[in-house]
Amino acid sequence: MKAFYAEEQKRHDPKAFLSSGAQKPNPEKPERVERLLAGARAAGCTIERPRDHGPGPVAAVHTPEYLDFLEHIFVRWQRIEGASAEVIPNIHPIARGGSYPASAVGQAGYHMADTACPISSETWQSALWSAWSAVEAAEAVMSGAPAAYALCRPPGHHAFADVAGGFCFINNSAVAAQTLRKNVARVAILDVDLHHGNGTQGIFYARPDVLTVSLHADPVRFYPFFWGHADERGEGAGLGYNFNLPLARKSGDAAFLDALDVAFQRIRAFAPEALVVALGLDAFEGDPFGGLSVTTPGFSRIGEAIAGLGLPTVIVQEGGYLCDELGDNLTAFLTGFGGGKKR
Ligand SMILES: [Zn+2]
Repeated sequence: MKAFYAEEQKRHDPKAFLSSGAQKPNPEKPERVERLLAGARAAGCTIERPRDHGPGPVAAVHTPEYLDFLEHIFVRWQRIEGASAEVIPNIHPIARGGSYPASAVGQAGYHMADTACPISSETWQSALWSAWSAVEAAEAVMSGAPAAYALCRPPGHHAFADVAGGFCFINNSAVAAQTLRKNVARVAILDVDLHHGNGTQGIFYARPDVLTVSLHADPVRFYPFFWGHADERGEGAGLGYNFNLPLARKSGDAAFLDALDVAFQRIRAFAPEALVVALGLDAFEGDPFGGLSVTTPGFSRIGEAIAGLGLPTVIVQEGGYLCDELGDNLTAFLTGFGGGKKR
């Protein structure tokens, strides 16, 4: 399987974030890339650099004012006397029906959901190349590859059309799905990250052409709190095209695979012509977030099961944080997927 990644994706290096009010080192570290590259290579992937795809594929899922914000906010932030080295919001609108703020501080609050996505001088380029890796993988599949892997870092599934959050800036899985839509009428996104793919859900919430399905730790006491509950089913023309499967905390392989079977029923009923897998590896039992208890062999079985859908598949990296097994878990998923047979 081809894998896509550009060196620029490693430059974004966020320093800190707030967790339950406490300042902690930001876990979305550049070193994740090294582990994931090693994991992809061990699964037999060849790593290729994506092309520069320009602004189009990203503009297809994000608003112009948000993209302008992401590209320019760091320079504007530096002009504020006494401002932090990285852009971190400290005020948010309680609802978004008011005026769009002109100030850098106001816009940071408007476009950033939380403190986990600090913006530095390198963030825009890293996020853009991460998205282009997703575009390149989607184009490989559109050209006939049965599957391709995009080593997307920074990750993307918490980014809405105009809001960053949870280490994410550009929604790479959404960009991949929208790119696939050029060739096919219906695309399903299956998100297996520990956390609910709230940004992806938000982007496609009113659309019937992209089915969004997410398995994740129950958000009742877990990030992203406000989204990911089973009663969120879509709206307007998209009603019935969003499907959430919250899992009890510490659920292991058996519960995860059972939920996956339920997800597959919904995906098959949608009859998609292509699939995007939002591949978080943070459901792992040894991940620093510790929300679920999937094992390394479990990731292999998950990959094998997803391959059983028999769909052209773009695998987009989402979460999964530093632990000894991070690379092994990717190898397990990709190897399992490669060995999976259509059922
Ligand atoms: Zn996650």
